[in-house]
Order: sequence, then C-alpha cells, then structure tokens
Amino acid sequence: MTTIESLRLSPTAIGEYLSCGHRYYIDRVLALPKNPKTRSLALIEGFSMHKGIEWIFRDRAAQGAGMWEECRDFVVDHHSGELAKGWRVDDVVSGPAGEAATSRARTLALVRCVWDARENFGPIAAEDVEREFNYTVAAGADGLPITFRWRLDLYSRAAGVLYEFKSSTRSPSDGDRMSLQSALYAWSIMDAGLPLVRVQRETIVADKAGKKPARISEESWGPPAPDEMARYFGRIDTIARAIAKGVFVPAVQDGPSAWVCSPTYCQRWTECRFGTGNK
Ligand code: SF4
Repeated sequence: MTTIESLRLSPTAIGEYLSCGHRYYIDRVLALPKNPKTRSLALIEGFSMHKGIEWIFRDRAAQGAGMWEECRDFVVDHHSGELAKGWRVDDVVSGPAGEAATSRARTLALVRCVWDARENFGPIAAEDVEREFNYTVAAGADGLPITFRWRLDLYSRAAGVLYEFKSSTRSPSDGDRMSLQSALYAWSIMDAGLPLVRVQRETIVADKAGKKPARISEESWGPPAPDEMARYFGRIDTIARAIAKGVFVPAVQDGPSAWVCSPTYCQRWTECRFGTGNK
C-alpha cells in the first residue's frame, strides 16, 4: 500500500486521473520511469506544436519580425530531438514506413496554421506566454496538502483573452461546455486580479498526414461565474479524496474499446495488466 502524503494537481493530472486512474497511479504515485520508446507520436506532435507556438509569440517577438523559415527550422529541430529521445517501437505500434516524416509534416502544418493567423491574436507580452501559476492549499481533502500547478498557453492582457491550443484531426463538437481545465485556467487569471473577457479554445485541425493546410476551429466562453467555479472545485475535491483513499480505476473498465487504452495514447500500454492489448 502506497501512502500519499501530499498531492500535486494540475489540469493535466486531473485529466489523466479521469481518463485512467491506473495510469495516474503508475505515473504519479508509483512514479515508475517511462520507457522512452513507447512515447506516442501524438504526444510528440502536441509538445512540438506548443513549443512552436511559444517560439512564435515569445522568441520571435524577442528577435524582431522573424521569418517562417526560422520557425520551421526550430520546430523541425524540436520534433527531431523528441524523436531522438525515443519513439514507440514498431512491435508496439504497427504503422507505415516513414511515419516519423509524416508526423513531422503534420506538426509543421499545425504550427504553420498558427503562424499564418498570428496577427489575429491580441497583443501578447512575453511573460504571458506559458505563464506559470502555483497555489498550495495547506489542508485539502482529508487534510492532504495539495499544490496546484499549471501553465497557461497564451494570454492577452490587453484584450483580456486567454487562449488554449489543442491539436485534432476533427473539429470539436459545437456547444461543448467549458472544460474543467479551461475553468481552472480562467480562475487563475481572475484570482490574480488580471482582466478576463473570454477564454478561447483554438483547436488546430490537421489531417493525419499533414498534407492539407491546417485550419483553426475556435470556441469561446465568458469567465466562469462564482457558483460554476464552486462546482468545479467540488469536483476537484472529490477527485482529491478519491486519490487520497487509493481509488484508481483503470480505463479498461469502461469497455474494451476505451480509446485511451491503446499504444497511441497510453505510454503504459505495454506494462499494464488491464490494457486491452495485454489480455
Ligand atoms: S493500458 Fe489502459 S488501463 Fe492500462 S494504464 Fe493505459 S489507459 Fe489505463
């Protein structure tokens, strides 16, 4: 039995717990080292896309106007560096030859889309790119010290807009409610006394091969109301209590087709006794 003495939560950690409690347990309670060769391309693409966005709005600003070629070289280097750290092996995920090159093309299509639309975003200060927030609650659920930590993708103080970036192969469904993640981001802005008019999710939609130009699909929400925020914190409290009590439900219990239970999305797929591929 592993005793949890403190808890560090971020929207990513909460999302991970909700998508698969067992993966949360392996990653964040046992903290077992990850096999770098099972890193999924989807993760590498998302990571490189965010680094590219950071380059566009912070590093490019520091260097003057900047050129797409410089941004492209930066993204290619970053993507190659991540691949070099280890990539999923062919016996874990079958796929066509040249999958790494396809992944790079897709990553470039994602970043290029943001590059082309860069003037549409409000004025962004360098410190509002990947801005970090930390909060510690001395005694959270069941007396457990909880530290909240997260980074915001992009925030325009002048326009009062918080931007979140996601990559996808399809548009988000219309009318999607503001996610817990978005609400937490919004709350950190409001709690810091900074202006917030809306939270805008920018889903960069690219085809898997990265052959067609990517496009941006936008959804936005006003700042969450206090009672809405209280409901979100109630959910977090429930999650923290479940973690403190050692409740870690594997995703596979949702059914054999749980999409997260695949080598593409789960870096613990090869070692997990619950995984759909390991029965
Ligand atoms: S393989 Fe499935 S059940 Fe196992 S850790 Fe991954 S998502 Fe969870």
